[in-house]
Amino acid sequence: MLKMLFSRFLQHHRHGWIRVSADVAFMYQRGPALAKRLRAWARAFLLDRKARLPSAYGSWSKSALDNDILKAELCAHLQGIGKYIRAQDIVDYLQDPDALSRFGLKKTIALSTAKQWMKKLEYRWGKGPHGQYVNGHEREDVAAYRQKTFLPAFASREATVRQWTNGGPAVPADQATVSRHTVYWFHDESCFSANDRRKVYWVPKGAQAIPQPKGEGATLMVADFASAEYGFLKSPDGSKAARVLFRPGKNRDGWFTNDDIIQQTSTAIEILSEHYCDEDHVFVFDNATTHLKRPPTALSARRMSKSPTQPDAPLFGVEVPVIGADGKAVFGPDGKVLKEKMRMADARFADGRPQSLYFAEGHELRVAGTFKGMAEILMERGYDADAIRQLRAQCPKFECPAIPPLSPLSCCCRRLLYNEPDFAVVESILESHCKARGFGILFLPKFHCELNPIEQVWGFANGTYRDLPLSASSRSAEADLERNLNHSLDSVPLPSIRRCVSCAFLHC
Ligand SMILES: [Zn+2]
Repeated sequence: MLKMLFSRFLQHHRHGWIRVSADVAFMYQRGPALAKRLRAWARAFLLDRKARLPSAYGSWSKSALDNDILKAELCAHLQGIGKYIRAQDIVDYLQDPDALSRFGLKKTIALSTAKQWMKKLEYRWGKGPHGQYVNGHEREDVAAYRQKTFLPAFASREATVRQWTNGGPAVPADQATVSRHTVYWFHDESCFSANDRRKVYWVPKGAQAIPQPKGEGATLMVADFASAEYGFLKSPDGSKAARVLFRPGKNRDGWFTNDDIIQQTSTAIEILSEHYCDEDHVFVFDNATTHLKRPPTALSARRMSKSPTQPDAPLFGVEVPVIGADGKAVFGPDGKVLKEKMRMADARFADGRPQSLYFAEGHELRVAGTFKGMAEILMERGYDADAIRQLRAQCPKFECPAIPPLSPLSCCCRRLLYNEPDFAVVESILESHCKARGFGILFLPKFHCELNPIEQVWGFANGTYRDLPLSASSRSAEADLERNLNHSLDSVPLPSIRRCVSCAFLHC
């Protein structure tokens, strides 16, 4: 009976334990009392790790997820999290020593493995039924980012942004004196196939309103920028464009990597600098992890000691892959990527001057290049030396409140550093890349896809795309896909793009 409960739960986990247990009870021609007992048994069974650790789990990484009970446990856990499930949640779940021993693992799994498991658990990375984003709006961090960062940035440029009414430009009275306009370039990545739609997060199999894709081969990804002024980002004669089409492949995780997006943005910057240099340009990106990647040597107080390191200790820093002259990672004789220890990047004083984390040449007591330690770093920032000396490096388990207490010195060195502005906000690679070239950049708040007009533009193009015929032979069908997609995107009329942008601006 339990076995049936688990296997049914796996097929219908969207219905939840209560309904599934009721269904099983019904099959045995019994009522809610049995359903309740079944749930209790299931819980006890899941909690009893001996019951679940048969010896055959040596090859767990390959086949353990084929075990229904373990699957059920993970599914139940993911369901408990709510609507917004990430593969990372599995990684986090398996950090618990009990879970590790139940699953027969020595350490938690890699994110890429977690993604495969998500698929095995029949979650697909996809956009849920319309309207599922709404709840994310209420998340505190998301609301705070929207209110304190995104909207003020948007408002600061409002006077220089052209307004569009009904697809055409409307010139507000106060724009007569604007000498340089701001153009917003919205970036987005999307997945096109003959009958599939864009996908945004893990959706359990069986969720309503998601058409099933017909096959991998029929899928093509596109990443592009669009603005109300010019539509998709290209040179005036159309010879150069920022658009990238790619097939979701094994090594790409189906999506753009950080390197991909930097490269694409560089192309965009090149085109805009050459052809549209009398306007200010701001790139608007989704708040995706790949977009927010930080440089490997980015400032972080996570592993810093309070005191300086000893002169003979290994360098305090970050392990980064060695990059050869060809721009690719170098491999060692053991076949692994060679790594080298690099210094962590400089911190910044409140006035913007760089603060090295390492002692300089000529220090009276310290050997040049040794790490200063948190205490010294804080004292250089003007914190009282005696007070700092009395602070511990870190509160137990670092469980002190993230928001500084009224008297900041009552806590620990690590918390103090975490709250310093340069440690709290580390620029992403993409952000630095754009800013260094004089281009603006904004990240949309999470779950606010209605703020990205390209979402609607994709929808527009998708309608055309689905109606275009494909060749019968699979090889030419592949080429058709690419041609059809370009054609569908380019046939979205500019006034429609403008309406999409106006509509998104209305939400700001
Ligand atoms: Zn603390």
